[in-house]
Amino acid sequence: MMNANEISAINELLATPKQITIIPHRNPDGDAMGSTLGLYHFLKQLGHQATVMAPNDFPDFLAWLPGSENTLIYEKETERCQAQLNTSDLIFTLDFNALHRTGDQMGGFLATLSKTFIMIDHHQWPDSYAKYIYSDTSMSSTCEMVYHFIHFLEKQNLINETVATCIYTGLVTDTGSFRFASTTSTTHEVAADLIKRGIKNAQIHNNLFDTSSYNRLQLLGKALQNMQLLEDYKTSYITLTQDELDAYQHKKGDTEGFVNYGLSIKGIDLTAIFIENKEEGIIKISFRSQGDFDVNQFARNYFNGGGHINAAGGKSNLSLTETVNQFVTIVKETRNENS
Ligand code: 5GP
Ligand code: MN
Repeated sequence: MMNANEISAINELLATPKQITIIPHRNPDGDAMGSTLGLYHFLKQLGHQATVMAPNDFPDFLAWLPGSENTLIYEKETERCQAQLNTSDLIFTLDFNALHRTGDQMGGFLATLSKTFIMIDHHQWPDSYAKYIYSDTSMSSTCEMVYHFIHFLEKQNLINETVATCIYTGLVTDTGSFRFASTTSTTHEVAADLIKRGIKNAQIHNNLFDTSSYNRLQLLGKALQNMQLLEDYKTSYITLTQDELDAYQHKKGDTEGFVNYGLSIKGIDLTAIFIENKEEGIIKISFRSQGDFDVNQFARNYFNGGGHINAAGGKSNLSLTETVNQFVTIVKETRNENS
């Protein structure tokens, strides 16, 4: 929740036309793109000059989102983006809790700016760079928070079909289509209201999940075949090497959702996927859990990451084999066998 003073201060800021930059996290997902674009279409209706600026490119499966074609990519057009940030009156940061989540380069630059930042985010333990912080870890998605934020400002009449479509996207993607524990009755009420506002919910789901390439499904097949079980520790994990990704002409976003299959096995409550990225020289890791096991804590403690209790990510500079060995060792040391 934001308090009444904060809300009226923000309403005052938004009362005159401003140049506003809206930033999602690096490797933006459906919630990051949906929330930034939803806010963008909202702020444009208020007469602001709004720009969504992503640290790096967004995946193709989100390219249908209205306004995504106007997104500036910091990694591709660094000078233009820095100039834009220098002249911004207001900077919204959405779906992340620390500036380094935009990457070392962009995060470093953002940290040098003396601008008014507004954070809207649902991750644990937000940093304090923002003047106004709307942080709520009980929220299903940042998109759900953008919906509430617009209501705090009492401007819900501006949630038109375009804004609603963007917001619905993050609801769907961050809740695994309304099935994760983060889905609340309020989440469903928000979804219902968005449908009333005219979104084509089945079409949105289709755009998000039924546009796979043949190669992507073959890669999923490979990932599932690579899955290993540590049954005594209720744990599973998947690996994908760069060579395997290359063999199926892997594109950004292709591995989205693969990690969830690891939890779909009976008795498994912790899973991970390790994806080799030769270009960045890292192993990108996603963690998922069911129930009490806190993968945010786990990712922070051992793999330079973070996120939520049941969904988190991290990275490793070791080789794929070494990273997996490290994971297996930690699991065996820290999880109780057969309990
Ligand atoms: P995913 O596994 O889908 O990439 O991310 C799961 C959740 O963890 C998301 O909420 C994402 O923002 C967060 N996350 C992913 N990677 C990292 C990371 O390297 N650092 C931190 N702090 N959070 C991450
Ligand atoms: Mn999110």
